Amino acid sequence: PQDLAGLKALVTGGASGIGRATADLLVARGADVAVLDLDISAVEKPLRGYVADVSDDATVRAAVAAAVADLGGLDIVVNNAGIGAQGTVADNDDAEWHRVLDVNVVGMVRVARAALPALRNSGHAAIVNTCSIAATAGLPQRALYSASKGAVYSLTLAMAADHLREGVRVNCVNPGTADTPWVGRLLDKADDPAAERAALEARQPTGRLVSADEVAGAVAYLASPLSGATTGTSLAVDGGMQGL
Ligand code: NAD
Repeated sequence: PQDLAGLKALVTGGASGIGRATADLLVARGADVAVLDLDISAVEKPLRGYVADVSDDATVRAAVAAAVADLGGLDIVVNNAGIGAQGTVADNDDAEWHRVLDVNVVGMVRVARAALPALRNSGHAAIVNTCSIAATAGLPQRALYSASKGAVYSLTLAMAADHLREGVRVNCVNPGTADTPWVGRLLDKADDPAAERAALEARQPTGRLVSADEVAGAVAYLASPLSGATTGTSLAVDGGMQGL
């Protein structure tokens, strides 16, 4: 369907994985799409690429301003850029906590802050934050990452309340383990990548990883007018992990 025809979207972390699948799906549904990422060398037309680091406010403001000017406005922000962290609270030092929270949480705040003036002008805007089942699942060896996504979940609810009357809906998607370059990098580090992959698949009730396209489908729904009455929700895309 061309349900996003005429809409203008910005996808952070859109050069890879879930972000790239989302950017491509928004284009297929008719949107004009800008991608913000650290490296945009793999971003091809019709996507528009903008270099920025979500942990650096000046680069975010410059990239969002350029994207809004080039697109001629903004209706959709997919706040998706994020990084992982492994370990218990005994393993990560203060610098690592600050670094991951700065990217995963404050990064979304910086992008929203820069984009809100344009989103308010849209009158029917949507922000979709990429959260995770880690926000609520109590996964072992993921204390810092889980705390960062828990904050994204709370931030989503607070932003939904704050911007409802400005015509800006705010929702999040909670993917389970998704088959992206991120998970590929994790597997590469394992002693036995094939066994590690099998263990990740076995953890999913469906017996397989979630695909980036399946997450993108949920994001596209929350970004589209089809979800016009929906704000302040999280949509699990986790192969039944939390429901079963
Ligand atoms: P990915 O590594 O394939 O893609 C992440 C993208 O974000 C990359 O293009 C990267 O360059 C970009 N990025 C990272 N730090 C950035 C920064 N400081 N500024 C700008 N861009 C930056 O990973 P993915 O699996 O597609 O993950 C995307 C999102 O999905 C993340 O927020 C992640 O927490 C979330 N998520 C992933 C999974 C999974 O299993 N893959 C599960 C739940 C949630």
